[in-house]
Amino acid sequence: MYSWLLPYREQLPSDRRVWPQALLLAGSANLGGLALAEHCAAFLLCHHPAESSACGQCQSCTWFQAGHHPDLLRISKEPDEKVIKIDVIRDKIARLSKTAHSEAAQVVLIYPAENLNKAAANALLKSLEEPKAGVYFFLVADHHASLPKTVLSRCQIIRLKASNALAEKENDDTVDAWLEDCIAVALAQQNALAVAQKWASLLKEKELCAILYLMQDLARYQLTRQHTFAVYEARKNQIEQLAARFSLAKSVALCQSLSTLYAETIQGLNLNFQLSLECRLLDFAG
Ligand SMILES: [Zn+2]
Repeated sequence: MYSWLLPYREQLPSDRRVWPQALLLAGSANLGGLALAEHCAAFLLCHHPAESSACGQCQSCTWFQAGHHPDLLRISKEPDEKVIKIDVIRDKIARLSKTAHSEAAQVVLIYPAENLNKAAANALLKSLEEPKAGVYFFLVADHHASLPKTVLSRCQIIRLKASNALAEKENDDTVDAWLEDCIAVALAQQNALAVAQKWASLLKEKELCAILYLMQDLARYQLTRQHTFAVYEARKNQIEQLAARFSLAKSVALCQSLSTLYAETIQGLNLNFQLSLECRLLDFAG
């Protein structure tokens, strides 16, 4: 789990007997809400939990790590659907009535929760209103404001903030060096392919996240022409330089392509990272 999520974990109990039955983790996609939910789910399901995390070794943890824990019900929209429909909720909730496989806990993880359509949210609401003992709901939402108030009111809400993620990044020389190289490519001071080669094996999630945040700050600045940076206030001058070089459409397109690269990378779906990185950096240069 990312270290910037630890303060959020500390807001939650280490005694499972007092764990909230419905928890909403709200915050934009790259802030780690899903990672935090999974960390907590593993803890609730673990047979021999340590102080505030799963042991990583018991049968439950083995199932969890293998990605098929019988008592972890993941709910998201079907690949060919735009929303999470009521049938999906009914089907999964019906499974909760059956006996749990490991000890007593069962976890329902819904992501992104704002994909619940109205009927599905209402079906879920029933379970949130009368939660069964040992059943824990995690709703992870990038845009939680679109969820019905009735659902929100049943959840303990934790809001993830970009500033916490940033606090860690700002003290990170690697992230700084990487951002400097990206900016140098955009300003035609460095060669895109050389930078891609240098970084292909060094980049981790936080570096990818950092460049995405920088581009989001850039797009925000281009839209509003105001210095309301969510993350990179300290790079105000560089953001102004980039704004003179990129059109808004290009900044938005770069945000999208970096976001895709980030998602593919954390899910292990990117088969040729260096090539993908070269393409992005060439976009920066071009
Ligand atoms: Zn365990």
